[in-house]
Amino acid sequence: MKSIEQDNYQDIRDAVRALCSEFPDEYHRKIDEEKAYPEAFVDALTAAGWLAALIPEAYGGSGLGLTEASIIMEEINRSGGNSGACHGQMYNMNTLLRHGSEKQKAFWLPRIASGEWRLQSMGVTEPTTGTDTTKIKTTAVKKEGRYVINGQKVWISRVQHSDWMILLARTTPLAEVRRKSEGMSIFMVDIKEAMKSGMTVRPIANMVNHETNELFFENLEIPEENLIGEEGMGFRYILDGLNAERTLIAAECIGDGYWFLDRVTRYVSEREVFGRPIGQNQGVQFPIAEAFIEVEAASLMRFKACELFDKHLNCGAQANMAKYLAAKASWEAANACLQFHGGYGFATEYDVERKFRETRLYQVAPISTNLILSYIAEHVLELPRSF
Ligand SMILES: Cc1cc2nc3c(=O)[nH]c(=O)nc-3n(C[C@H](O)[C@H](O)[C@H](O)COP(=O)(O)OP(=O)(O)OC[C@H]3O[C@@H](n4cnc5c(N)ncnc54)[C@H](O)[C@@H]3O)c2cc1C
Repeated sequence: MKSIEQDNYQDIRDAVRALCSEFPDEYHRKIDEEKAYPEAFVDALTAAGWLAALIPEAYGGSGLGLTEASIIMEEINRSGGNSGACHGQMYNMNTLLRHGSEKQKAFWLPRIASGEWRLQSMGVTEPTTGTDTTKIKTTAVKKEGRYVINGQKVWISRVQHSDWMILLARTTPLAEVRRKSEGMSIFMVDIKEAMKSGMTVRPIANMVNHETNELFFENLEIPEENLIGEEGMGFRYILDGLNAERTLIAAECIGDGYWFLDRVTRYVSEREVFGRPIGQNQGVQFPIAEAFIEVEAASLMRFKACELFDKHLNCGAQANMAKYLAAKASWEAANACLQFHGGYGFATEYDVERKFRETRLYQVAPISTNLILSYIAEHVLELPRSF
């Protein structure tokens, strides 16, 4: 497939592509079949410093912007890999970086940058409240220099491959706050310590090879110095971090989109039926061309969101729109790719069915398409609140 990329990040693209080329299709296929964790791949990305892209140089990272970070995620997915195994390491620390104290940053960031510690997990979603985050029921009660955590979380990813987790819990009951977004706080949780003293982890078998879990908290005590920023402000801090997450996930979808387009254009040019390549039929060409246009458009919105985030400007609308457009584009590309591979699209050895499953997730997580539409309707178009 001819590339029409015209950005200034070719050096990053080339370097990430070179590393990813050491992990070919067979590697990712085997990991998927065995439902294993791509340890060697994540270690290689960590050792090369790619996952510390957003950590400032003063803390041992490379101090790059969200734009460069998004190129890294895009290239991982474009190579056939799945950033879902490691994207948390790149963006979860943003909350700490933007809202943590100097002491907290000096304690955690250098070890996260070096890869000694993984901060891959973020515990927000709960079984009974779902997307309605302000209704979370997990509580953190202050008691003699500690916070005592009780409650439950669901779909919390990479807990088994993380040393630390960012946890959102209610510190003031909903009934006692002026606005429902107030009264929640975020904490750094030492996962291994927590598993010994009040946190139970139960893995959830699922459609993709995405390690994710139910968590149960029963009087888990965490030191008060693990509170990030001000008590009660956690929801605002999390939202800020989520804009980075949404934009980077948009980049992953863009990478997936290009992967599908690469594979399908190659396949339809070679596969001959009725005495000619199937790609000669406009019925085959048009859905592929349409998906390409959509991936390119999503990529532009991704760059817009990155630019605003890097300037510390409000990028909520752009981050959400980038995620929406990119998830839709990668899903269109996935459908075209599977369809035009015919029966072979279902064969594991072509990798299309694996990437198809992986990219489908982005219609639902980390935020569903409906909730993005609702955000745009309410916050950009100023339509009446629906909830
Ligand atoms: C593999 C995987 C990994 C995940 N990892 C994490 C993680 O690491 N940390 C974490 O905190 N969470 C994680 N999640 C949770 C994820 O963010 C949620 O699943 C997602 O936000 C949707 O929440 P829910 O599942 O509770 O769906 P619900 O809130 O129950 O919604 C179900 C569907 O209903 C629709 N819907 C709901 N409300 C409305 C509305 N008001 N208007 C219109 N439509 C609506 C949407 O289409 C939505 O998809 C993960 C999920 C998955 C599947």
